[in-house]
Amino acid sequence: MWISWWLWPLVALCTGDQFRDEAERIMRGTPVIDGHNDLPWQLLTMFNNQLQQAKANLTSLAQTHTNIPKLKAGFVGGQFWSAYTPCDTQNKDAVRRILEQIDVIHRMCQMYPETFVCVTNSTGIRQAFQEGRIASLVGVEGGHSIDSSLGVLRALYHLGMRYLTLTHSCNTPWADNWLVDKGEDKAQSQGLSDFGQSVVKEMNRLGVIIDLAHVSVATMNATLKLSKAPVIFSHSSAYSLCQHRRNVPDHVLQLVNQTGSLVMVNFYNDYVSCRKEATLSQVADHLDHIKKVAGAGAVGFGGDFDGVSRVPSGLEDVSKYPDLVAELLRRQWTEAEVRGALADNLLRVFKAVEQVSDHTQTPEEEPIPLDKLEDSCRTKYGYSEASSFYHQPGALLASLTTILLGLSLL
Ligand SMILES: [Zn+2]
Repeated sequence: MWISWWLWPLVALCTGDQFRDEAERIMRGTPVIDGHNDLPWQLLTMFNNQLQQAKANLTSLAQTHTNIPKLKAGFVGGQFWSAYTPCDTQNKDAVRRILEQIDVIHRMCQMYPETFVCVTNSTGIRQAFQEGRIASLVGVEGGHSIDSSLGVLRALYHLGMRYLTLTHSCNTPWADNWLVDKGEDKAQSQGLSDFGQSVVKEMNRLGVIIDLAHVSVATMNATLKLSKAPVIFSHSSAYSLCQHRRNVPDHVLQLVNQTGSLVMVNFYNDYVSCRKEATLSQVADHLDHIKKVAGAGAVGFGGDFDGVSRVPSGLEDVSKYPDLVAELLRRQWTEAEVRGALADNLLRVFKAVEQVSDHTQTPEEEPIPLDKLEDSCRTKYGYSEASSFYHQPGALLASLTTILLGLSLL
């Protein structure tokens, strides 16, 4: 194709590394806030959470997707670190495990104060941007970690939890997970049980972001309808591009749009291409799709680094975010749209969650019914005869009727 000579400088400007340079310029002002990183899980499995061990040094750690030099090269300015404990800890030591994972995140901030600063609100994230440190937040992955207790939910909030993924890949006694949609688990709560609704209301009251990654479509719908604040999918991609049940279907993306919520795109090959291999360009396709269906305000990044075994070529570790941003610029995303996906959309959602929260409101108090808890090593203090009558008016009525019948017989 013949191009007029005076257009050559423009062509030269828009080829080569121009988009990559532009990405870096934008990210110097607006670094990425990523929705989900499993480095704390790696610290548990590799070092049993012993951060002082020489080989656990986060500056030189080599086998992981995440270390300090890679985070810096990737312009990561905010990270929801995943406090995760697997489903096999449900009804066992989930609470202990989750406390330990929250503790290891706090110790990362303590050990590397020049790099990480633990924060708990949107203002803290902006402040960390100014200081050139990585705002570090706690995201608890899996509702089984609250052991069906509103008291534990509130205690985790006090320890810094700022999102809770309602389920991992198992039902809780109060919310259904994505395996229900796959036919591998039975629906138990048809989305959210009455207690599940109390959990959502209490999260709104406290100011904990509701995370719908890993939940069933019925749970997505029930929560999007009930929550007074926007929600996030901390690490999920688009179902219409890869028919994996961990991804978000288009009809839910419409609700995401209507509620001002956010989908932070997962980079795991199996969710990106539905195959073992995937590319950076295919991740950009997911970002494009969510932007098209839910709007530019609904897009974010939730790489799932260090939580997955396969990542796309071109997105091998956390240093590669600028390459993905360059690809979005190549696809003619505007600077404002890019800044939105990097950080502004999450900051908007977080601020809205903070505005909905109201610590003067009466907390949710009614415990989960005893018969919803799996019988295990758990004790039953508090669930006395009297209180079980109190919560079962039918039983109370039946026993009153017996007494009255007895009296009339006399
Ligand atoms: Zn996950």
